[in-house]
Amino acid sequence: MNEAIAAIRDDFPVLSRSVGDEPLVYLDNAATTQTPKQVYDVFEEFYGTYNANVHRGIHTLSHEASVAYEEAHDRLAAFVGASGGREEMVFTKNTTEGINLVAYGVGLNELGPGDNVVTTEMEHHASLVTWQQVAKRTGAEIRYVRVDDDGQLDMDHAADLIDDDTKLLSVVHVSNVLGTVNPVAELAEMAHERDALVFVDGAQAVPNRRVDVEAIDADFYAFSGHKMAGPTGIGCLYGKKHLLEEMEPFLYGGEMIRHVTYEDSTWNRPPWKFEAGTPPIAEGIALAAAADYLEEVGMDFVEERENELAQYALERLGEREDVEVYGPPAGEPRSGLVAFNLDGIHGHDLSALLDERGIAVRAGDHCTQPLHDRLDIPGSVRASFYVYNTKAEIDALLDAVDAARDELDSHLDSQYHDLVYD
Ligand code: PMP
Repeated sequence: MNEAIAAIRDDFPVLSRSVGDEPLVYLDNAATTQTPKQVYDVFEEFYGTYNANVHRGIHTLSHEASVAYEEAHDRLAAFVGASGGREEMVFTKNTTEGINLVAYGVGLNELGPGDNVVTTEMEHHASLVTWQQVAKRTGAEIRYVRVDDDGQLDMDHAADLIDDDTKLLSVVHVSNVLGTVNPVAELAEMAHERDALVFVDGAQAVPNRRVDVEAIDADFYAFSGHKMAGPTGIGCLYGKKHLLEEMEPFLYGGEMIRHVTYEDSTWNRPPWKFEAGTPPIAEGIALAAAADYLEEVGMDFVEERENELAQYALERLGEREDVEVYGPPAGEPRSGLVAFNLDGIHGHDLSALLDERGIAVRAGDHCTQPLHDRLDIPGSVRASFYVYNTKAEIDALLDAVDAARDELDSHLDSQYHDLVYD
């Protein structure tokens, strides 16, 4: 392991724990990444020195908490290239809430019969289910851009589907199953030519590559803290300032109002207009620390590292004839995750056997049931990497896959043996 990676691993004490008697090999980063000391120390500092509600008290602690919380918005805006600062950066619970915020604010208010929403066959349920329900409630049509057998979007199909009745394009930036990096800027341009709004699900992109929402020209862009070395319970929705100003709020209550009478209310300015009630203050400040941490490591380095690990995993998995891998083939750009199946072995069985060897992966449909139907498989096993993973850990995964196969084969053989000879 090189020195830089060893130093990064030292920031994540959890990586040196064991599972049973085995050292932990954590390859479930697309579900949730681990959190460095620099981020969880923020909780100790916040609760130990300036815990208070924001925007409510005139006292020192409330002021300190408010300033730190507001600056965290600026920090996250800068992290994804939003020049409007805090006014373009709403803190949410996670990506799912960011999608729902737009679905309520724009979708339910502005869509109707005759309109359509264009999305893709590779969406996570967080967006697919949300737009499906918006379509059902408004009478709008939902259209899916096809995914080809290499896990890429069929761009000609996208061009056919986006028309003058398209009000919104919703696309995942990086697929959480295929690892595909979608041409979101190109898609945004196609949608804008038809005056449609563009929403991008960046849950798997922001943690792994430098994202510039303005270069993409996304109208809205959502991501989660817990997938980018940050805490759970906090996510972000970027929105262009004028759109957030125009958009209806999603939740009502304290903090999001300007003036209230018994008859009516007016709204605070963005982002507070969309952050009703007491927000996740410590989580927001800790998320800014996660952005600082990733900048310190270097987002180019993170991206390079993930690509290298993914290519290595593809190469090693490709050596096995009984392994099927999904998504772009080796050599094509992809994010740091690989979904696969081992012939004749259910993903849950494989994942449980890997866990016995200390290896954490995810098995199932990864919240993409329609995509798994499209691939004609019930589920898959997904190994997903982060900047702290090593090739030695991928070797450990492959050794464990081979051992699991041998174990299950011998078990089947002995059952067969019993049937024949007993
Ligand atoms: N979109 C994608 C592509 C994802 O991978 C995920 C998380 N698995 C989500 C959305 C939802 O993220 P969260 O659960 O943090 O809301």
